[in-house]
Amino acid sequence: MQRLTQQFIGNHWVESHGTRRLPVTDPYRQEQIAELTAGDPADVDAAVAAARQALPIWQGLGGYRRGAYLDAFADALAERRDALIRLSAVNNGKPLAEAGIDLDDAIACYRYYAEQARALEQRQGRLVEHGMDGVEARTYEDPVGVVGLITPWNFPLVTSAWKIAPALAAGCTIVFKPSEVTPLPEQALAEIALEIDLPAGVFNLVHGDGQGIGALLSEHPGVDKLSFTGSNAVGEKVMLAAAKGIRGVSLELGGKSPILVLDDADIDQAADWVMAGIYFNSGQICSATSRLIVHQSLAEDLYAALAVRMDAIRLGDPLADDTGMGPMTSARQRQAVEDYLAIARDEGLVAVRDASHHQLPAQGEFIAPTLFRDVPTDSRLWREEIFGPVLCARSAASEEEAIQLANDSDFGLAATVISSDVERARRVGRQLRAGSIWYNSEQIVMPEASWGGFGISGIGRELGLWGLAGYLEVKHLIGPAG
Ligand code: NAD
Repeated sequence: MQRLTQQFIGNHWVESHGTRRLPVTDPYRQEQIAELTAGDPADVDAAVAAARQALPIWQGLGGYRRGAYLDAFADALAERRDALIRLSAVNNGKPLAEAGIDLDDAIACYRYYAEQARALEQRQGRLVEHGMDGVEARTYEDPVGVVGLITPWNFPLVTSAWKIAPALAAGCTIVFKPSEVTPLPEQALAEIALEIDLPAGVFNLVHGDGQGIGALLSEHPGVDKLSFTGSNAVGEKVMLAAAKGIRGVSLELGGKSPILVLDDADIDQAADWVMAGIYFNSGQICSATSRLIVHQSLAEDLYAALAVRMDAIRLGDPLADDTGMGPMTSARQRQAVEDYLAIARDEGLVAVRDASHHQLPAQGEFIAPTLFRDVPTDSRLWREEIFGPVLCARSAASEEEAIQLANDSDFGLAATVISSDVERARRVGRQLRAGSIWYNSEQIVMPEASWGGFGISGIGRELGLWGLAGYLEVKHLIGPAG
């Protein structure tokens, strides 16, 4: 069994000062595959100090050389492709094909921000257009400083890439705390930092859980900005911690995203997109379109088409090529979803499909793909993020009602619109309150477009130029021209 007893600080593997041991499990085989020694305050102090020392060196390298390191990061990930996919499948319970998509997304992100590091260098000192005679103003963008990055377990290599790549491109140095549930794929990032000779202290990785490391990192006065992806409950704590010392914070939180099937949609095509929006990664997706709003004229046919597809999902070993859906990533998450299913029973929700329709594998933290229909809007299952393969559906009598239902949520991370009329799909999409709105497609994610939410889904944006801006301070030099 692998023992992760060390932290990665200043380009050295150093024994953790902490003594608490945390199990790392394979959710399919339901066995412990590694043991993590959580860090303690001394580890966080050392990591922050190393990052602080490296900051002027890293900033001083300039965008071209930082870009070259980011390209090297992407190359090193690509070289480890097969091993990392397997590791994600074992530690996360993801089918191999899904783990492959994740890794490719992560690699694309490092490559994109390599380009952005170079573009940043090129635009440093650009002139501001203005109407004052004899005055010159130039724009510069400096790194925010030392950043604390905290990520969840559902897409470990992706959520970390979305932070690490733009932070390094901007010239920030980082202290990264991966989720204690899935530390194994992330361990490779520290190995890569060593392999590509990243200057010491630029990338520091501290293992531990939320209380042990996450909270300490959030509260650390040596951290200039925090970027957090995870649950709303913890996001609030991180934001409160950041308030002390007036430090910046970016939050990528939960969602309860709608998928609208309009009256002119093709049923079979719509059913495929509805399936992809909720059952990928066993529903453990922040942007899961977990509220289906279908025009009443199509509802019965769509539910029937979904039932056929749900029955065909093969639940099983993430390492088997024919597995369509793996287990939940942890026993804890399976229990959290079970708790919602118990609420559904209490509320008397009507299931089109649930565990009674699916033979679950003999082992693994599985939840059967579930579809509830005619879910009342005041049901907890309609309003709260479940983070599992549970779709809640309602029908609507009109496009206006569908839009109103879609926007009736405190969250605003994502949405999908399906219509045979592309113009109509775009028009409806424009009226939705969410950061990512897809029409007539699966959830396409690209590093060039932003990611993040309206309302309680978060603060700030990742990816694209907005993701880079989150790690930059803008300043202007203004004086006599010439
Ligand atoms: P979580 O909030 O429990 O944990 C996230 C991270 O925070 C982990 O590394 C954890 O150790 C750490 N943490 C826990 N307590 C902490 C504390 N008090 N202070 C600082 N850090 C602490 O979330 P999770 O269960 O790992 O992930 C699921 C959640 O993440 C869902 O709500 C999901 O919607 C959200 N998520 C959002 C996005 C997005 O882009 N918006 C992406 C992925 C996941």
